[in-house]
Amino acid sequence: MTYRRRKTAERLEQWIPRTRLGKMIQEGRITSIEEVFTEGLPIREPEIVDTLLPDLQEEVIDINLVQKQTDAGERSRFKAIVAVGNRDGYVGLGSGKARQVRTAIEKAAVDARLKIVPIRRGCGSWECGCGKVHSLPFQVEGKCGGVRIVIIPGPRGLGIVASEVARVILALAGVKDCWTRSFGSTRTVPSFAYAIFDALKKTYSLITPTDWVG
Ligand SMILES: [Zn+2]
Repeated sequence: MTYRRRKTAERLEQWIPRTRLGKMIQEGRITSIEEVFTEGLPIREPEIVDTLLPDLQEEVIDINLVQKQTDAGERSRFKAIVAVGNRDGYVGLGSGKARQVRTAIEKAAVDARLKIVPIRRGCGSWECGCGKVHSLPFQVEGKCGGVRIVIIPGPRGLGIVASEVARVILALAGVKDCWTRSFGSTRTVPSFAYAIFDALKKTYSLITPTDWVG
């Protein structure tokens, strides 16, 4: 077991839910992440996600040293960006700041769990038409800061045609085949990552919520 998995297991064992949703999950009244989103219940405890998605994986996307001028002098902290996903339709992106790198990563990992969303997948590629959920159902566009990114459905076997950061996030979401096109200051990793996340969120926001259940 990795350090992080052990930490998660420990946290789950000691978990005393503070929210209504957390209590419902511990009492076994809600047993799937789909129910959480169908009911529109806000996720305010990371343990909710760890309980309902035990196969959740996480990847550190970016670590930056942030320096700030204060009255007491220069203060530096690390800012981490972490992505989580079950490689099967759920992905989250979060950030955290701390004086220690490890603490910044842990905070970002918690934030990513609280920001998790369902991704609608499909076969939106006219060259493919297999009907399986290996890609996205249609083209989506996302923005953050000065970055704009377009994700285009691709045929089975294509793989993820994207930069490293986009590949990691798309793979965590469970998207296997697609093209991407990016515009603007794409070397700004945080904005780039959030633009991808924004695009993926649109796979659901472009349709009515009742569509998600089936
Ligand atoms: Zn297909």
